[in-house]
Amino acid sequence: MLLYSSAMALDRFNRNIHYLRISLTDMCNLRCVYCMPEDMTFRPREEILQDEELLRLVRVFARMGFDKFRLTGGEPTLRENLTALVRGMRDTPGVRELAMTTNGITLKQLARPLKDAGLDRLNISIDTLNPDKFRRLTRWGRIEDVWAGLEASKRAGLPIKINAVIVRGQNDREDAVDLARLTFDHPWQIRYIEVMPMGRVSDFQKSAIVPEDELRATISEALGPMDLLDGGKLDGEARMFRLKNAQGSLGFISAVSKPFCAGCNRARLTADGRLLLCLLRDKEFNLMPHLRNGATDEDLMEMIEDNIWHKPWGHGLAQDIRPTRNMSEIGG
Ligand code: SAM
Ligand code: SF4
Repeated sequence: MLLYSSAMALDRFNRNIHYLRISLTDMCNLRCVYCMPEDMTFRPREEILQDEELLRLVRVFARMGFDKFRLTGGEPTLRENLTALVRGMRDTPGVRELAMTTNGITLKQLARPLKDAGLDRLNISIDTLNPDKFRRLTRWGRIEDVWAGLEASKRAGLPIKINAVIVRGQNDREDAVDLARLTFDHPWQIRYIEVMPMGRVSDFQKSAIVPEDELRATISEALGPMDLLDGGKLDGEARMFRLKNAQGSLGFISAVSKPFCAGCNRARLTADGRLLLCLLRDKEFNLMPHLRNGATDEDLMEMIEDNIWHKPWGHGLAQDIRPTRNMSEIGG
């Protein structure tokens, strides 16, 4: 039975999978310590999905009922022809929401063209407001560049959320509090992400995890109580709170301490054309040879449907099962 005929892709646990996260490149202009090793190497260009291959896959996924798409990386803003790609995706029937997760470094130049091309919203990664710590966590990044990118995005009218990965002993105390303080003056959502152990840096990551309850206690001690929003209903994967009198909100993405697999609606496409149905499992399906060897759209839909049907129930972090790829090779 072909589920795409009903424009809804269901897995065997009756989850409706309709959100695709696309890694546009595995390359990055930073080397965040929790994401990739300093000596990371990147894939040659011929192994990466070409523009027309990517746009074809977006059309195929949209025909299957996918309506929400997020561009990520590596660093998605390093992708050549980015604005043309965004425009092509925006013009694809069925694409309802098109967002991007970026480190923000190049947004000073790109925010306006991206908005004009049809991008709906941005998540910008900022782990600390402290310039020295920012440099240490990213290995060489300059917070001023990210800040300039964030200002340009605001001017361009792009709604913004801020992603902060919290690392024990690095940014889990005053830095996390400083980020939360931003919500008093800005309508932003600050999303605190628990470090997930992956790839070549997974030992470091395991010792770096700060559970959500501990982090919320640290923030409340400094800034006062926070109210749970929407009765605890997740916004994407984030549990939402608001500090008293704040304009913005705080989201906690706690894949390790409070897994949200039961409500997962995602699939992931890597820059080298692999389909992943769980960020934290190694199981992947290589679409590239089929794309390059004459598969029809219907063939592709059938393969994707089969993979969605077999989507794993959840990750295996509790059993110490960790994925081999680095985060930058999937996109978060
Ligand atoms: N380069 C872009 C950026 O940093 O926003 C997009 C790709 S990055 C892999 C996507 C998100 O994953 C970022 O918010 C990043 O902070 C987060 N991330 C990276 N490594 C992580 C890890 N080990 N655990 C949890 N989140 C991680
Ligand atoms: Fe690059 Fe994003 Fe990974 Fe940092 S988190 S190294 S910016 S891909």
